[in-house]
Amino acid sequence: MLLQKRVILKISKTLITQEEIENKISEIADLINSKYKKEELVVVGILKGAFIVVSDLAKQLDVDVTFDFMSIKSYYGSESSGQIKIVKDLEYDISNKNILIVEDIYDTGLTLSNLKKLLESRNPKSIEIFCMFVKKGISKDHIDIDYSGFEIGPDFVVGYGLDYNGKYRELPYLAALS
Ligand code: 5GP
Repeated sequence: MLLQKRVILKISKTLITQEEIENKISEIADLINSKYKKEELVVVGILKGAFIVVSDLAKQLDVDVTFDFMSIKSYYGSESSGQIKIVKDLEYDISNKNILIVEDIYDTGLTLSNLKKLLESRNPKSIEIFCMFVKKGISKDHIDIDYSGFEIGPDFVVGYGLDYNGKYRELPYLAALS
């Protein structure tokens, strides 16, 4: 019988504390509140990773806002590189609406750039992007991020919505694994 080795990764260090995250969310909520003061806004959260960012942001928004969610899968293989598959689509029609995409992390940029193209094809009035964590220097598909939380290094991170094999999303801080 073949014995399977299980590699168990553990939290090695906190990269961004809960307090730093809370302060950043307040700062970004202020920017969004002043930008959309006189406008309707649809916040589009990308599941699953952005569920905590969206709920923390939501509590600090003071604009005419609705929330919708999408779940997508990105493909990086040679044949289908840059493709996204919709696992769960939006519930609302976004034509002529101001859209704010909320994403957990920007790594290669493929997910966000394809998602933006997809949502642009639905004729919204405007699209902006808020990405909580942006990995430095490894972007393949450059895309402008209108509101970015923190720049981080290339290491794999977990917490504040981000998982490793489905675990660690509940951590209120961002951590590295080892
Ligand atoms: P991109 O298309 O920008 O390369 O990848 C974005 C997606 O990859 C994110 O939505 C996230 O699901 C996953 N991802 C990228 N880097 C990390 C990381 O350091 N930790 C975790 N948990 N997921 C990551």
